[in-house]
Amino acid sequence: MIYGHEKARDYLAAMLQQGKPAHAIMLIGPAQIGKFLVAEEFAGALLCDHSHQGKACGQCKSCQMMQRHAHPDVLLLSPDAGKQTISVETYRQVEVQLSTSAFMGKHKVLIVRDMDMANNSVQNAALKTIEEPPRGVILILLCAQRDLILPTILSRVLLLNLNDLPVAQTQQFLAEKKLDGDWAMLLQLLCGGRPGKILQLLAQEDYQISLLAQISGHLELLGQTTQERMRALAMLKIDSLEGALNWLDFELQLLRECGRSNSHLFAIMQRLGHTTLSVDCSQPARLEQLQASMRRGIEIRGYLKAGMNFSLHLNQFLLSLPQL
Ligand SMILES: [Zn+2]
Repeated sequence: MIYGHEKARDYLAAMLQQGKPAHAIMLIGPAQIGKFLVAEEFAGALLCDHSHQGKACGQCKSCQMMQRHAHPDVLLLSPDAGKQTISVETYRQVEVQLSTSAFMGKHKVLIVRDMDMANNSVQNAALKTIEEPPRGVILILLCAQRDLILPTILSRVLLLNLNDLPVAQTQQFLAEKKLDGDWAMLLQLLCGGRPGKILQLLAQEDYQISLLAQISGHLELLGQTTQERMRALAMLKIDSLEGALNWLDFELQLLRECGRSNSHLFAIMQRLGHTTLSVDCSQPARLEQLQASMRRGIEIRGYLKAGMNFSLHLNQFLLSLPQL
């Protein structure tokens, strides 16, 4: 089941109903909000044998293969294992696959995850596919940061913007996962309207203990000296870009909460047994320091995504944190 994104999904369904699907679509929106699910839903409807009003029937052979994530006409391209980007070699291999005709006789769909992480060579290769698509090929490109995409690609695709889920839908999602009370509030506060992020936190072993430890660890940084902070960060042994981005996003989200006068974070933490935690940002000067640090964090996030050394930049971020 997909939560939210009705506008984009309705648009895609209407396009299918009219029998004129765009051959290159880009879904832009923050990480872990469900862009991939929307892409899969569209691909499923496109390939379905008995689609109705632009939606898949859910019963036919094609739909069954989609449900098993094993449709021969749906190709997936993600950053290479252990790497931050898709390599040109990997793209070339997919290009060859795209040039053959569809197994089920309809379309071939290529879904590219993290297009904004692809370097210029891969983006140029994709641009060529967009400009001269093999017969029946439909590209669905997913990205979080529009400014990292070549303007020549942006001008040739159907752009659809997706956003964080509204509060009510996130609550519905949490209720579906049988979460309520303080834990639901805490997850909502940490993950905003990003169901994928909630699932990621829930997937941690002993997630409740682990989550509380992470929150304490992040907040304690604010009371530490730069040296102590760097030691604490080194202990975490972050060894991938994904890990670095997750760490930074978590910290930024907590800083945002600390700066909010009506935040429930500390009250929830107290009820869950963490009575000593508190960050007082009621003074304007402190709040200003916190906001400057958040701006720096967002800037550093951009550097990380552009492939810069993450250990160096995370330490730079620690340096910018005020000591409260
Ligand atoms: Zn079907």
